[in-house]
Amino acid sequence: MTKNLINYYSDSSAGAPEPLTELRLGAQAAMALLFTPEAQPVSLHYIDDEAVNGYVKCPGDGCPVCYAGAKPSHFDLLPVFDVESGVVKVLRISDNRRPAGLAAKLIPHLKGEGAADKLILISKPTRTDYSVISRPLGTDANRGEAEIQAFSEKFDNGLQLGLAFRAMTCNELAEVPKVAARLGAMGGWIQPAPNPEASAGEAEPS
Ligand SMILES: [Zn+2]
Repeated sequence: MTKNLINYYSDSSAGAPEPLTELRLGAQAAMALLFTPEAQPVSLHYIDDEAVNGYVKCPGDGCPVCYAGAKPSHFDLLPVFDVESGVVKVLRISDNRRPAGLAAKLIPHLKGEGAADKLILISKPTRTDYSVISRPLGTDANRGEAEIQAFSEKFDNGLQLGLAFRAMTCNELAEVPKVAARLGAMGGWIQPAPNPEASAGEAEPS
């Protein structure tokens, strides 16, 4: 069996699947195409420790970060096509209903006529402000049809957009220095009861 290297390296659907990543927002506008209003809710903790410095999925029951008094932030994750990189990325949208929030500014563009022909410029000029404006899509612009179709098939089959964020176990989170310090101040972390299936056959020293 042979493989044509020219085709292999020019066909973005070949080779290892692209890992899902977040569409990062900053002062320079990201260029996105909106193709679905279907988002997935996710609960994340921002771990402000140099060992992590980013969002981590809240593991839910028994989460040591929640136990130490930090509530997770709730977001809706919306897949969008990132024109510059040519891949579908995940837009993290706070689920609050602030009029100045990203959701409030994005929804008119999701509903708008001819959304498929609009380039959406999303920027975050300050920590709390968002700007969302649309421009007509250039005739030669990358519309990402193949990428969007390939993504949509996976999305319809249950792809979890939370994969774009780091996942840590309860034990790993409890060992992050800043989390460990908060837990220590509370007299330690009461770990959740071990999962009987996962620990079957293991004697747990008490
Ligand atoms: Zn949590």
